[in-house]
Amino acid sequence: MKFATKTIHAGIEPDPSTGAIMTPIFQTSTYAQEGSGNHKGFEYARTQNPTRSALEKNLAALENGTDAICFGSGLAAMDAVMKLLKPNDEIISTNDLYGGSYRQMVRVYEPFGLKPKFVDMSDPKSVEKIITKNTKLLWIETPTNPMLNIVDIEKICKIAKKHNILTCVDNTFASPYLQNPLDLGADIVLHSATKYIGGHSDVVHGCLIVKDAELAAKLHFIQNACGAVPGPMDCFLILRGIKTLHIRVQRACENAAIVAKFLKKHPKVSSVNYPGFKSHPGHKIAKAQMRDFGAMVSFDLKSDSFENAQKVLSNTHLFTCAESLGGVESLIGHPASMTHASIPKEERMKVGLTDSLIRLSIGIEDVDDLIEDLEKALEQI
Ligand SMILES: *Cc1c(COP(=O)(O)O)cnc(C)c1O
Repeated sequence: MKFATKTIHAGIEPDPSTGAIMTPIFQTSTYAQEGSGNHKGFEYARTQNPTRSALEKNLAALENGTDAICFGSGLAAMDAVMKLLKPNDEIISTNDLYGGSYRQMVRVYEPFGLKPKFVDMSDPKSVEKIITKNTKLLWIETPTNPMLNIVDIEKICKIAKKHNILTCVDNTFASPYLQNPLDLGADIVLHSATKYIGGHSDVVHGCLIVKDAELAAKLHFIQNACGAVPGPMDCFLILRGIKTLHIRVQRACENAAIVAKFLKKHPKVSSVNYPGFKSHPGHKIAKAQMRDFGAMVSFDLKSDSFENAQKVLSNTHLFTCAESLGGVESLIGHPASMTHASIPKEERMKVGLTDSLIRLSIGIEDVDDLIEDLEKALEQI
């Protein structure tokens, strides 16, 4: 089955009791048993829920995995992966990791004895250099936020295999439509389904996808034992969002390419981070491992100042100033004061995250209107 067909059909059957075409929202905490242990495969809704099961089958198909495990948020999904580790295990991740993932590794799991280390993962040699016998997990994110750096998934996974280390790829920014890390050798794929998979900015949700039965069993065990499960209504909304994933992301990518070109030519813009440009250091890798270059773009202003960035943000009308990404509507953000405010300025500047960097999540509106909106806002500085 091809991707566009999977989004609509994988894991989805008309409801056997009524013929309902859409998977019902099974809003129940428990299920009748004919006698103790004699049931229809569902005992208690932390353990199994039919709406969630349909979504898990669908997500597994989208990432070419065998099992998906759903959680109440992307960070709850990550939390389950952390629980595969033991005190003194080392994690290697990228130095421009999503802030929430960094916070969980450092502020929640370091006190429990896990040892996260951060390097520039776009350089695989620097990863291999710091591997020790205690390294148990390589945590990959690509493209990264907000600098849009690209990590070579296949290369990093090869290094991991050589040293018998587990790999997890946070595939949130790309979505399964653009990139399938299991096919490139990864063990686990993570999504914040809050973003492109849900696609409508109306639900917080996360998932893991794997293709190894033993790993799936461990993660299912953690999901049930720790209980960070999503509700059936949220699973229904994610299933509904997925039906248009391919056309949403396709259009958003088309719009992003046009907006990136417009910004690059703009006299008030000093640089544009977009992996679709040949001049982007990760362009070749992105071209090889992604189907398109994504719909996230960040750019910097020539008049490098906090105030001018704020002026742009407060003068767009279609681009709403907000956290998050991946919805049908375009969003604009200022990483230095929003998503990355907790990172010291010196650290931020090292990766090019200046006071005037602006991040865009390009939606699926008419691109002419998006450009007009940015043009007018840039006139204000
Ligand atoms: C949003 C996000 C997360 C966290 O997901 P939540 O659903 O907000 O918990 C993790 N990784 C990336 C790249 C994200 O953008």
